[in-house]
Amino acid sequence: MGTAVFESVAALFGGCVGSFLNVVIHRLQFDDPQRRSLGGRSHCPHCGALIRWFDNVPVLSWVLLRARGRCCKRPIAMRYPLVELLTAGLFGALAHWSPFAGALTADASGQAMGIAVAGLVLQAVFLSLLVALSFIDFDTQLLPDVLTKPGIAIGLLGGLWPGVAGSISQDDSTSLALRTLLASLAGFVVGGGFTWLIRAVGSKVFGREAMGFGDVKLMAMVGAFLGWQAALLTMFLGCVIGAVVGGLGAALGRGTVIPFGPYLALGAVVSLFLREPILTLVFSTWPEWQRRNPSSQWLLLAFASGSLLLLFFVVRRGRRPS
Ligand SMILES: [Zn+2]
Repeated sequence: MGTAVFESVAALFGGCVGSFLNVVIHRLQFDDPQRRSLGGRSHCPHCGALIRWFDNVPVLSWVLLRARGRCCKRPIAMRYPLVELLTAGLFGALAHWSPFAGALTADASGQAMGIAVAGLVLQAVFLSLLVALSFIDFDTQLLPDVLTKPGIAIGLLGGLWPGVAGSISQDDSTSLALRTLLASLAGFVVGGGFTWLIRAVGSKVFGREAMGFGDVKLMAMVGAFLGWQAALLTMFLGCVIGAVVGGLGAALGRGTVIPFGPYLALGAVVSLFLREPILTLVFSTWPEWQRRNPSSQWLLLAFASGSLLLLFFVVRRGRRPS
């Protein structure tokens, strides 16, 4: 299969997944268990009319219907095509950049093919979970267990497939499967543990909750999927992005309640796609530059702690049930 064809198919499939994520995002916002069920067909949020299949085509229906429902002519939120486009873009990016996609489009052996398919499916599931969690967190300041806990389980199980999580040990006596399971477990422990630590210290020092236990579970999930190095990278990126956006928002006098989940998810997406170049920068290019400019490490430390400090002032968590 040609790569352009493969990327287009992946993006189209991503659009359909995004359409399903809209349903997940919409229904998980309610505490009522009846409304939380994901079964059944889509209904208009205004008048409750059943949405017909030809009005449910990702992005296209929204454009053709000119952002209004066929049933009651009331506006369909921009949010729906946005989630579909975002998911389509992420799946297309996965087909373009994932090393698994490269193995799939090359003429690979049967076993390599199996690993590539499993790896791609796991990464697609990971991205889908991040999209759903981000929008739910944005709306409700909650990261529901019903997504994070299965996410952690899938991430850890994914460690059984070789090469899915980052490797932590180069020891060849350990089997490849165990090595990646260890990498996944290490990611789970480091991602969850580090976030838990920041949360505990933050609440003690500042007496306010910048992070909830949902963030701890989200980061444990990120670590289980991506390994411990990428989990730390995600945390760092999430703090910097959150502090910059939150600081700008505060400076412009916008709302002060900013959930942390979307920033962590953005950091996780960057870590997934750009882990290798960033780790090369941090562990090879940067130390080289640092040797020539000894004061730069204090600059980095000040930057990181400054971001974290700012974060505790601009991000505030609502009271969470869990
Ligand atoms: Zn309607």
